[in-house]
Amino acid sequence: MKIAVLPGDGIGTEIVAEAIKVLKALSLPFTMESAPVGGAAYESHGHPLPDSTLQLAKDADAILFGAVGDWKYDTLERALRPEQAILGLRKHLGLFANFRPAICYEQLVNASSLKPELISGLDILIIRELTGDIYFGQPRGRRTATDGHFPGAEEAFDTMRYSKPEIERIAHVAFQAARTRKAAGSEGRVTSVDKANVLETFQFWKDVVTEVGKEYPDIALDHMYVDNAAMQLVKQPKRFDVVVTGNMFGDILSDEASMLTGSIGMLPSASLNSRNQGLYEPSHGSAPDIAGQGVANPLATILSAAMMLRFSLKQPEAAARIEKAVDAVLTQGLRTPDIYSVGTTKVGTREMGDAVVKALG
Ligand code: NAD
Repeated sequence: MKIAVLPGDGIGTEIVAEAIKVLKALSLPFTMESAPVGGAAYESHGHPLPDSTLQLAKDADAILFGAVGDWKYDTLERALRPEQAILGLRKHLGLFANFRPAICYEQLVNASSLKPELISGLDILIIRELTGDIYFGQPRGRRTATDGHFPGAEEAFDTMRYSKPEIERIAHVAFQAARTRKAAGSEGRVTSVDKANVLETFQFWKDVVTEVGKEYPDIALDHMYVDNAAMQLVKQPKRFDVVVTGNMFGDILSDEASMLTGSIGMLPSASLNSRNQGLYEPSHGSAPDIAGQGVANPLATILSAAMMLRFSLKQPEAAARIEKAVDAVLTQGLRTPDIYSVGTTKVGTREMGDAVVKALG
């Protein structure tokens, strides 16, 4: 088994170093090889996703990714900006299914901006389609309007589109995830989020998900408009089990869900293709505001490594060991500044990583 390690920029290098420490402590039979990505790769190779990095990622069973981006690259042409590396990896590896669990650790129940009773015990999974929708739809661009409210004016446009197979495969991923979760005690429900009342694309989405749902009679299916879903996520988040939605709605809702749990520094994510090859990364970015200070929370990245062991490397016991160790360090009261509260012990990035290694037992 081979892991491609792409630390990236900003806090990416700091948090990935801790995840590597944890992975090495498990003494499992896999190799790890690192390569630059994002701004770091632009500096060394003139491109955010050099061919050598892409090849390493393609050849690996899984990719452990830190984060990319820095404000200093904001003036670069779009194709050379660090964030293009993630889009390139998603596209070249066909990573169409993004998993974002939002789990509220009991020890951090007071770190959320929501009332503790609303989020205590929260364990939901947002599944976002990642390679289609308006983010990738063609045609797109700028032109002079020939119709609309202001004919002759300059305008910009994008195209929202989904094909049936694209919807079917992400729907299957969602129903299967709900089944696995049900076996572990969850409700067994998929909520498909759309905007079928306004958008043709999402009426089609709803129809196709409904059709696929018939193959999973053991899983309940409901549909919700995206505006209502945004409300329900803060009103009664525990009514959800698995949420499946398109690329743009998923982008927004998964960030909203991540904040339910208090800190984005706690949330892992996985992006998988049809061969179960995956890219595993924290849900947050490169946090240039705290980079180099040794204060970033490495737990989202360490938990992403656990997801990697479970999904791509088929090592569920090792994954559970990591998750238990994270739970243990939180119970010990260790907190990086983003999750610190009075009465707990403030630690830095490295101390947190060391504590997880120690708690692996
Ligand atoms: P961000 O997620 O990097 O940071 C948002 C806030 O959360 C900041 O205050 C930051 O300090 C804090 N934060 C993030 N991760 C943390 C952690 N592990 N521990 C403690 N605090 C943490 O988002 P941003 O500031 O909007 O973006 C910064 C850069 O990251 C931009 O260049 C953006 O394009 C890029 N970005 C990259 C990814 C990715 O690599 N997948 C995702 C989002 C943003």
